[in-house]
Amino acid sequence: MTETATTQTPPYLESLEQVIVDVVAPAAVEIDQTGAFPRAALDALGAAGLLGLISATEVGGQGQAHRAAALVVERLAQECASTAMVVCMHYAGATVIEAHGPLDIRTAIAAGRHLTTLAFSEAGSRSHFWAPVSTATASNSHIQLDAHKSWATSAGQVDSYVWSSRPIAAEGASTIWLVPGNAAGLRIPAPFNGLGLRGNHSSPVTAAGVDVPTTAMLGPDGGGFDVMMGVVLPYFQLMNAAASLGAMEAATVKAAAHVAGATFQHLGQALADLPTIRAYIARMRIKTDMVRALLLDTISALESGRADTMLRVLEVKAAAGETATEVTDLAMRVCGGAAFRKEVGVERHFRDARAATVMAPTTDVLYDFIGKAVCGMPLF
Ligand SMILES: Cc1cc2nc3c(=O)[nH]c(=O)nc-3n(C[C@H](O)[C@H](O)[C@H](O)COP(=O)(O)OP(=O)(O)OC[C@H]3O[C@@H](n4cnc5c(N)ncnc54)[C@H](O)[C@@H]3O)c2cc1C
Repeated sequence: MTETATTQTPPYLESLEQVIVDVVAPAAVEIDQTGAFPRAALDALGAAGLLGLISATEVGGQGQAHRAAALVVERLAQECASTAMVVCMHYAGATVIEAHGPLDIRTAIAAGRHLTTLAFSEAGSRSHFWAPVSTATASNSHIQLDAHKSWATSAGQVDSYVWSSRPIAAEGASTIWLVPGNAAGLRIPAPFNGLGLRGNHSSPVTAAGVDVPTTAMLGPDGGGFDVMMGVVLPYFQLMNAAASLGAMEAATVKAAAHVAGATFQHLGQALADLPTIRAYIARMRIKTDMVRALLLDTISALESGRADTMLRVLEVKAAAGETATEVTDLAMRVCGGAAFRKEVGVERHFRDARAATVMAPTTDVLYDFIGKAVCGMPLF
């Protein structure tokens, strides 16, 4: 297991390891090939208490927070990035439900009986998730939701969506809703067929006259922006960075093993005997360890309320996402044609790692936010 911030392995990582050995790792290649949803892994993670990792102990959860969520997602991503992303988006939705949702759903999440996700991105506002154009209309003490959501991880597989819309009446950019996964009027117009994360089922979801009670509102009308930035963003940024870290950790380890074992018989040498190859491996190790250090520092900043927490939270996903594309690209290079022909297993991590750059907040939007923060300008 990868070294973590703590010297002793926390119990949740021990139970995760069993699920990884029994279910996640054996299924990873097939999930990538077929695009199948990792249902068996989610069932096992639920039974091991890991879907309730960040649920409060009062509702039966493990009462953990950002550090645990990031470490679990990283370890999953080393083996199966699709499973890691499904769990990442589950925790991102679960934290909103923990803060504003009903007791029965919180209890079901804690017990591992309820999978959720975020449905923020829309066809109209694209990656600018903080500005939904979809609507919530009040009628007869009920709410009607109409939307063209462009991406929702685990689409069609979840028990609920944590959903954004324009406010009903209040000022503000958005309102957040809890929408049952089987609500009448929800439709998935196209299956997911992605370059990477192939089992994460990130399809579009449309809503035509979806009826929810007013009690489905998570937080105040018009308060969606605060939920997105205050509750979701720190979790999402850390977990997405952790997923990138998992991909580069796995690629670095696999590449090092390959170059140590692959030989030029006519020279009596391994690939690793070439200084060029060793230098690339060294760069991969350094970049991976730098990202790990930044991730752990960001978690520490958050836990201790350090003044630079928001800057670190913005930085960590951009740094990890971009570095993961570089490290997995180097893995492809040093493993040569064997990697191209999928013999080494690094090509899956190379494809999986590409998603972080365009998952919102995208790297380029983060560069803009970070630049503004550093120059003392308002972010929005
Ligand atoms: C695997 C995967 C899973 C996903 N899961 C979810 C999910 O569960 N829930 C959810 O809500 N969404 C999800 N998304 C959607 C994601 O968060 C983004 O909204 C989506 O990837 C944006 O794609 P787009 O084509 O709309 O990008 P566009 O908005 O068209 O962006 C295109 C390019 O323009 C750049 N750009 C845009 N605005 C700016 C700006 N202001 N400054 C500089 N550059 C800019 C972007 O960085 C990008 O490079 C997922 C996406 C992926 C790939």
